[in-house]
Amino acid sequence: MSKKIQAIRGMNDLLPKDSNLWLAMEGVINKLLISYGYKNIRTPIVEKTETFTRAIGAVTDIVEKEMYTWQDLGGDSLTLRPEGTAGCVRLMIEHNLPREGIQKVFYQGPMFRHERPQKGRYRQFHQVGVEIFGATEAKIDAELIAMTAQLWQRLELKNVTLEVNSLGSNETRKEYRELLYTYFSKHKSELDEDSLRRLEANPLRILDSKNGDMATLIANAPKMIDHLDEDSAKHFAEFTGYLDCLGIRYTVNPRLVRGLDYYNRTVFEWISSDLGAQGTICAGGRYDGLVEQMGGKPTPGVGFAMGLERLMLLISEQSESLTQQAPSLYFVALGEQAQQASMRVCNDIHQELPNVVVINDIGMGSLKSQMKKADKSNTDFALILGEEEINNNQISIKPLKGQGEQQLIALEGIIAHLQEIL
Ligand code: ATP
Ligand code: MG
Repeated sequence: MSKKIQAIRGMNDLLPKDSNLWLAMEGVINKLLISYGYKNIRTPIVEKTETFTRAIGAVTDIVEKEMYTWQDLGGDSLTLRPEGTAGCVRLMIEHNLPREGIQKVFYQGPMFRHERPQKGRYRQFHQVGVEIFGATEAKIDAELIAMTAQLWQRLELKNVTLEVNSLGSNETRKEYRELLYTYFSKHKSELDEDSLRRLEANPLRILDSKNGDMATLIANAPKMIDHLDEDSAKHFAEFTGYLDCLGIRYTVNPRLVRGLDYYNRTVFEWISSDLGAQGTICAGGRYDGLVEQMGGKPTPGVGFAMGLERLMLLISEQSESLTQQAPSLYFVALGEQAQQASMRVCNDIHQELPNVVVINDIGMGSLKSQMKKADKSNTDFALILGEEEINNNQISIKPLKGQGEQQLIALEGIIAHLQEIL
C-alpha cells in the first residue's frame, strides 16, 4: 500500500459532521449583514504581494513572517491573502466604487498565515470581514459595534467583552511614536529581540507584543489615549457616547493597537473568555489613510474581521438553536412498486416541506438492513413502504428517537400528517 497523503499542518478539512453548524452560522451572519445594508463582494484568494506589503505595513507579524509568498511563472511575486481588507481596498480603487457614494461591503473566505498552529490558531482559517468606505462619522463606528453585539446575541454567545481604544491621527501618532521611542530606549535591556527591532522601525508595535515578560514595561508606557488631538478625542467621545446610549459595555484598553499598521482613531476587539489565549473573535477599526496609501483618492474607511473557527468553537458549546437539527426522515421501501412510490412521496415532501431532511434509502436491501441504516441515521422518523403498505395504499411511520408507536396511515395523508408532527 502506498503512503497516505495528509493535509498541510494547520490547514483543516470541513467534515460532514460539522457542516450543518458551519452553514447555520454563516447563514445567521449573512442575514444580519444584509439586513444592515451590506453587499457581499468576492476577491481572489491570491493577490500581488505588494497589495499586502503596502497595506499591512512592513513591520508587522504578518508581513515579516506569516505570508505565503512565491514567484509565479511570469516572475511576479504573489501571496495567498493573509487578511481581507487589502484586497477589498484594491477592489474599491480598481472599480472606482467610492466615487458612487458610501460603500458598505462584506466578504468571507479562507485566509492564510504561517503561524504556529494551536487551538483557535491555524494556517488556513476563515474570516468574515465588513468594511465601509466614505464615512468618517463616529456613528458608523458605533453601528459596527451595535451590529456585532446583535450578532453575538443571535449566535447565543456568552462571555464576550468589548475593548476599545483610539489611535488618534497620523500626525499625533508621530509625536506619540517619539514618546514611545524615548520611553522604550530607556529600557532597552528589558526588550526582547522582536521589540528591539521594532523600536527603530515602529515602536507602536511593541505595545502589541504577546511576551508576558514585557507586560509591566508595556503597561507603564505612555498611552496614546492621553495624547489624542482634539478632533480624534471628540470622535472617540462621540463613539463611546453612542455605545453608552445603546447600553453596550466596553473597557478602554490603552494598549490596544492591533496587529496591522493601517489603523487610526477607533480600534476595537471583541474577546471571549472561553477560548484561552486565542480569545479575540472579532477585531477592527478605522483606516482613513489606507485607500490613499494604496493609490486611490483619499477615502475614509472602517471595518472589522471575525475569525469563524473561533466562533465555531464557541457556538458548538454555547448555542442551543444553531446546534438544533432540522426535522428529518429516513425512507425505507421494499419492492419495485414501493421504490417508485418512495420517489414520488420524497418529491412531494421536498416540495411541501422544504425544511425537512429526507434520506431515501438507496441500498435497496432487506427490510431489516434498511431499518438498521434508519436506526443509525440519527433521523427523527422512518417512513416505511413495504408490500403490505403498497397493497393497502398506506405508509408506516416509526419514531426513531424517544417514545411512540409505529403508525399506519393513508398514503395520500402523509404530507398532512408530517406537517402536523414535524
Ligand atoms: P491574534 O492576535 O489572535 O493573532 P490578529 O490580530 O492577528 O489576531 P486579525 O488580523 O485582526 O487578527 O484578524 C481578525 C480575526 O481573525 C481575529 O480576531 C481572529 O478571530 C481571527 N484570526 C486571526 N488569525 C487567525 C489564525 N491564525 N487562526 C484562526 N483565526 C485567526
Ligand atoms: Mg495574529
